[in-house]
Amino acid sequence: MNQISPLAETPVTRLKGVGPKRAERLARLGIETVQDLLFHLPFRYQDRTRVVPIGALRPGDEAVCEGQVDHVEIRFGRRRSLLVHLSDGTGSIILRFFHFTAAQKNALRRGLRLRCFGEVRNGPASYELVHPEYRPVDGAAPGPEETLTPIYPTTEGMHQLSWRELTEQALALLEQGGRLEALLPPEYLPPGLPGDLAEALRYLHRPPVGASLEQMQAGRHPAQRRLVFEELVAHQLSLREARRTLRRLQAPALAGDGGLRQKLLARLPFRLTGAQQRVLEEISADMASPRPMLRLVQGDVGSGKTVVAALAALQAVEAGFQVALMAPTELLAEQHLRNLREWFDPLEIPVGWLSGQVKGKERRRALEALAGGDLPLVVGTQALFQQEVAFARLGLVIVDEQHRFGVHQRLALRDKGAGGGLVPHQLIMTATPIPRSLAMTAYADLDLSVIDELPPGRTPVKTVLVSDQRRDEVIQRVRAACAAGRQAYWVCTLIEESESLQCQAAEETARQLAEALAGLRVGLVHGRMKAQEKEAVMARFKAGELDLLVATTVIEVGVDVPNASLMIIENPERLGLAQLHQLRGRVGRGSVESHCVLMYHPPLGQQARERLAVMRDTADGFRIAQKDLELRGPGEILGVRQAGEMQFRVADLLRDQDLLDAARDAADRLLRDAPEKVQPLIRRWLGGSTRYVQA
Ligand code: ADP
Ligand code: MG
Repeated sequence: MNQISPLAETPVTRLKGVGPKRAERLARLGIETVQDLLFHLPFRYQDRTRVVPIGALRPGDEAVCEGQVDHVEIRFGRRRSLLVHLSDGTGSIILRFFHFTAAQKNALRRGLRLRCFGEVRNGPASYELVHPEYRPVDGAAPGPEETLTPIYPTTEGMHQLSWRELTEQALALLEQGGRLEALLPPEYLPPGLPGDLAEALRYLHRPPVGASLEQMQAGRHPAQRRLVFEELVAHQLSLREARRTLRRLQAPALAGDGGLRQKLLARLPFRLTGAQQRVLEEISADMASPRPMLRLVQGDVGSGKTVVAALAALQAVEAGFQVALMAPTELLAEQHLRNLREWFDPLEIPVGWLSGQVKGKERRRALEALAGGDLPLVVGTQALFQQEVAFARLGLVIVDEQHRFGVHQRLALRDKGAGGGLVPHQLIMTATPIPRSLAMTAYADLDLSVIDELPPGRTPVKTVLVSDQRRDEVIQRVRAACAAGRQAYWVCTLIEESESLQCQAAEETARQLAEALAGLRVGLVHGRMKAQEKEAVMARFKAGELDLLVATTVIEVGVDVPNASLMIIENPERLGLAQLHQLRGRVGRGSVESHCVLMYHPPLGQQARERLAVMRDTADGFRIAQKDLELRGPGEILGVRQAGEMQFRVADLLRDQDLLDAARDAADRLLRDAPEKVQPLIRRWLGGSTRYVQA
């Protein structure tokens, strides 16, 4: 074995016990080199370094204990089980086995001393270890382990023992001077993190006796944070690479005289807020440059993102380019279509429509108009970006609600080019407020604009929590509001797994409410209705021809009815805060005071209570997002991006928030001062998953 060859270039097949079959298994986890193996880190640990007195064991502990067998019995309950009563003078515990042989039972005689390892649980009579590992303690029994026992993420056919053998060999190579490049200079690390990478890796693979299991499980040990930091830097760099790849391309510089924009502004019944104006200027400047814009606009529900998008679109249209506006659902796309047509018809700018439901001749015509360049603007769903959709001169893509639109799709847009090798500008809008440092990490490939101001004259929504035992009162409240000429939403959040059952249940609710509220006009929208049917019901509600709209959460985004001032949300405890916030944003759009009734099903758990209290106490989307982040973690907030594209090995965006800013700085410095380290660092942490970035 050549010991000076860098570990990043030493194939795992050089290790003892790694033949073709095992190499293939490892490759499935992206492990091809000894370096990959070293960065395959344990996700938890067991402490087998010491024997814990039985009296000190607590449920949930995984521990080694030793004691004497007092009594052995077979219980015939729902399941036959073998119970072994064990004590050590400090306390006693039961070992429970559901599967056992007669020989096994006979060997467990009274008086025998056993050493066991397992997880302590609360049994019917006392604490128990279910199916513990155990062996008699005699002269030959080996002593306790010398390090915490690492537990590795694994794949079929790879046992923990195999991982330990392999990492043992990898660590030995490291020990013998195998080269592992320290890609991050120590001076880039935040204070308190160890500089020596090899040492940190050694610690994580084999935490020594005395390492705090609790600290290790919590991911708070400095050695862990050293690696977390490096991983955060690597992710930051990979997103920036994606951005650089796109920014290297040319986009059309879209500048006009602003005439169309002036016309629209003159017709609007309101003036832009300062925040809208500022963000629009940021967008305008980007679009006027020949570098592709990659900009995320964050703005709370109701902050007026649509009109900003429309004004941006006009800039592209004026310059003679096409605009595509994509929304994640039909309903939201339809709403945009309506808005844009209302604004653009007087300007004589046609707005096309393309969704999965547009078929046949209509579809062909839309496709031709786009390919021919006759249609300056099209609104639709993901269907807009199917292969067969070609644009003559696509200059701007607007994506509403980014979370289903990731780096991959962004890169794919290259192919929809604006002609002549030009790629379109991209504007992404989201109503999900994300704390800034998190946003700058998750969206490092985007520039960020924030509409941090609501249009004037909005009255905050008053929110109350009411148990569903008071359903009748709530129904009377709906009656009173409607009698006063207001309109109301009744949102059903149902547990049924299948959408069709959900819709049935919503139908049932609508029927009951229509009965209980005889005289009121009750409408229903749910996900199973045809787009046209939904559209018709929404239109009637908007026109004031319906008093009460019963809906599944399909109305989360989309409808804008200023006269609706009451919203009832059934079982709000089933929804995330961000979603509740979105829903509630449907009311409070007019000048009357609006109310939101969160009608929960008791009893509420501690966390649900806390979450609903947040909804009651604040209307600030950013505070709600921060709370959601604390309670549920970033995956829920960032959606697909987190799940699919931001899989971390050791970092956790919530736990490690305090490292985010420093990681961004380190990424900046590395790009500036040591760009040759960038690719190796990305490869080390993201391996094959970033290959598309270099494509
Ligand atoms: P969101 O940011 O949630 O997408 P919308 O764009 O749907 O918000 O805007 C919500 C409502 O506020 C719409 O009826 C819109 O016409 C209106 N609106 C937008 N900007 C302003 C403004 N500056 N002043 C008053 N109303 C505005
Ligand atoms: Mg919107």
